[in-house]
Parts: sequence; structure tokens; C-alpha cells
Amino acid sequence: MNSYQSSTNFDLVGKTNRVPVGIGSKRLRIVVTGGAGFVGSHLVDKLLGRGDSVIVIDNFFTGRKENVMHHFGNPRFELIRHDVVEPILLEVDQIYHLACPASPVHYKFNPVKTIKTNVMGTLNMLGLAKRIGARFLLTSTSEVYGDPLEHPQKETYWGNVNPIGERSCYDEGKRTAETLTMDYHRGASVEVRIARIFNTYGPRMCIDDGRVVSNFVSQALRRQPLTVYGDGKQTRSFQYVSDLVNGLVALMEHDHVGPFNLGNPGEFTMLELAEVVKETIDSSATIEFKPNTADDPHMRKPDISKAKELLNWEPKVSLREGLPRMVTDFQKRVEEEGAKL
Ligand code: NAD
Ligand code: UDP
Ligand code: UDP
Repeated sequence: MNSYQSSTNFDLVGKTNRVPVGIGSKRLRIVVTGGAGFVGSHLVDKLLGRGDSVIVIDNFFTGRKENVMHHFGNPRFELIRHDVVEPILLEVDQIYHLACPASPVHYKFNPVKTIKTNVMGTLNMLGLAKRIGARFLLTSTSEVYGDPLEHPQKETYWGNVNPIGERSCYDEGKRTAETLTMDYHRGASVEVRIARIFNTYGPRMCIDDGRVVSNFVSQALRRQPLTVYGDGKQTRSFQYVSDLVNGLVALMEHDHVGPFNLGNPGEFTMLELAEVVKETIDSSATIEFKPNTADDPHMRKPDISKAKELLNWEPKVSLREGLPRMVTDFQKRVEEEGAKL
């Protein structure tokens, strides 16, 4: 396979202009894989906003050009259509590695591709980090804890994961990605960071990505019943996207490898979430119970003491504050969708 691809803008990313990585450095050159996706596009906004140069690598499986189009024409922004399963050559200071579908509907769509993305994609980005001496941050997931037997989950918990189930391509893929990250750190002295992200919501989520917050919000806006899977007593903890982005940047810039849980400890059953969505959008919305999916974790809530203490980070936006901000974005997109019909 000879698919090395170079950045088309070597003036921007050439080695000679290199500045040291760290707090206070100006105009870092940063790669964000998966930067056209939900979380990635908000991260790109923040990095460009503070003056860095950003290269987004994305294959647009679940991401959209619309999420980053407002940066077209900015000389510090570059978008490369590329699949991280293939190697790539670039010269940068930091790599935020987000490329991977995150919604269960999307990652189960082609499970083998999900594993390849997590394993070969992460290997390639670590190989890149090793070659150029860049700092590498992996966006892992609370799913590494599986259906947890410890509650809330601390980073020291090793998890309860089914290795042969429908979710395994994602859970085990991310666990392997963490292993690779630590092996490059120990074996090749790559500077690495690992974030374990808990359920995150906000503007720019795919409207029909099947995740619970996007489903409930779009269903309420379209005057459809809210689909609660199983008995609705399973719990999740929902983090607003700006809190996550602040956590990712804090992690990249501090001196600790991690792993760090990044999530909002506010815990809700799916029935409670449905009530908050009803309060926010339409109190007359109805609920329709549907069968649950296989291996669905019964409960999930982060213990974030480690991130609070070592990164000086904690989430600021509650579900009742964050949800209306997402609704404004979804309302606009649902209306645009209606206008096209
Ligand atoms: P998303 O699906 O919106 O974004 C993922 C992006 O990666 C998309 O733009 C997609 O096109 C791109 N991508 C997928 N496979 C790729 C490949 N092989 N090569 C290049 N690009 C590829 O998901 P998100 O919610 O923004 O999640 C971003 C990251 O955060 C993922 O790694 C995910 O596992 C992690 N995460 C997210 C959550 C959450 O609740 N949002 C929770 C835990 C972990
Ligand atoms: N790699 C890459 N870009 C680089 C350097 C490496 O995509 O700038 C890929 C490389 O193709 C390989 C992977 O990263 O598949 C791991 O690279 P490494 O050098 O660690 O291992 P090796 O190539 O020796 O297997
Ligand atoms: N869920 C639900 N209704 C939906 C979509 C999901 O009740 O329309 C439930 C799902 O069974 C799970 C929880 O919501 O218990 C969170 O699902 P999501 O897909 O958002 O994320 P996960 O945490 O499972 O990755």
C-alpha cells in the first residue's frame, strides 16, 4: 500500500516554523482527525479561535462539511478528505485523534470498519506522532467500562466488556486503541494523553444518529413519540459539548497522560431524560416503549475527581441549561428539512 499523502500547504506546516508545544505557545499546528464530526468541529472552532493552525482529516462517514464550512477561506484552516486507516504524512505539533463513529447505530453499521478505524487508524496516528515528535491525544470512551459493576466509574476500574457482542467493535476497539497508545508511550516515548469521554450532546449532532438525546429532541420537534428502549430505568450522564472541548484542551496541555474521565456526573434514567426533553420542547409529547438493544449498559456515571484535581477541570453546563442550546440548532435543521420536502 503506497498511499502516503502530504499536506498541500507546507508553508503552513513546514518543520522549520516549528514552535514548542505547551501552555502559552502561540500558533501551534494541530491535526484533528474526525474534525468534521460533532465533537471535532467544536474543538476546531476553539483551536482556530485561539489562533492555532488546524488540519482536519475526515472521511465524512458520519461527519459533514457543513460543520466546518464557516472556516473555509481561513488560511489557518485546512480540510483533507482522508481515511485514517491509510497512512498519512504531515508535520504538526499536536494530534487530537477523534476519527471513529460514536453512535451505536453508526458503529454497528460496519463493525469490521469500526475495528479497523480504531486499531489501524490509531496505529497510523501514533506512527505519525512518533515520526514527528508530536503530542497525541486519544478520545477513548466510557464504553471501555462496558456494563459496569462499579458505580460511579473511576479510571482504575478495568471494566466489564463482552468481547464478542454487537458493541464489541467499538468497546474492544477503543480498549485496543488505549493499549496501543500506552505501548507507543512506554516503547517509543511518544507524548500521549487519553480521555475517556462520557455521553456528550449539543448542536451539530447528526439529527438521525440514533443516540438518545438526538432521538428525543428530533422526535419532540417533529411531534413524534419519544422512543424509550427497554424499561427506561437505565442511566446515563450527559455532558454538554463545550465542557468536553474545554476538558480535551486542558488534558492536551497538562502534564498527565491519563486516562481521565471527561463527563458530567449528573445522572438521569432515560425516562427522566424524556421528562426534561418534554419540559424543554413540548409537554404534550408522548412516550413509546421499544425493545432494548443487546448488551446495553444498565448504568453509567463518571467519577471525575482525577480530572478535577489534576486538570483543574469540571463541567459547567447542566442538562437543563445545555438542552435548549441544542434545541435551537435542531429546530433550525428540522425546519430546513421540512422546507425541502
Ligand atoms: P461523530 O460520528 O460525529 O464524529 C466522528 C468523525 O470521525 C466524523 O466526522 C467521521 O466522518 C470521522 N471518521 C469516522 N471514521 C473515520 C475514518 N476511518 N477516517 C477518517 N475519519 C473518520 O462522533 P463524535 O460524537 O464527534 O465523537 C468523536 C470522538 O469522540 C469519537 O472517537 C468517539 O468515539 C468519541 N466519543 C464520543 C462520545 C459522545 O458522546 N459524543 C462519547 C465517547 C467517546
Ligand atoms: N505512519 C503514518 N505516518 C507517519 C509515520 C507512520 O501514517 O508519518 C504509519 C505507518 O504507515 C505505520 C504506522 O503509522 O503503518 C505505525 O508506524 P511505526 O513507524 O510506528 O511502525 P512501523 O511502520 O515500523 O510498523
Ligand atoms: N435509548 C433510548 N431511546 C432511543 C435511543 C437510545 O431509550 O431512542 C437508550 C439506549 O438504550 C441506552 C441509552 O438510551 O440505554 C443511551 O443510548 P445512546 O445510543 O445515546 O448511547 P450509549 O450510551 O448507549 O452509547
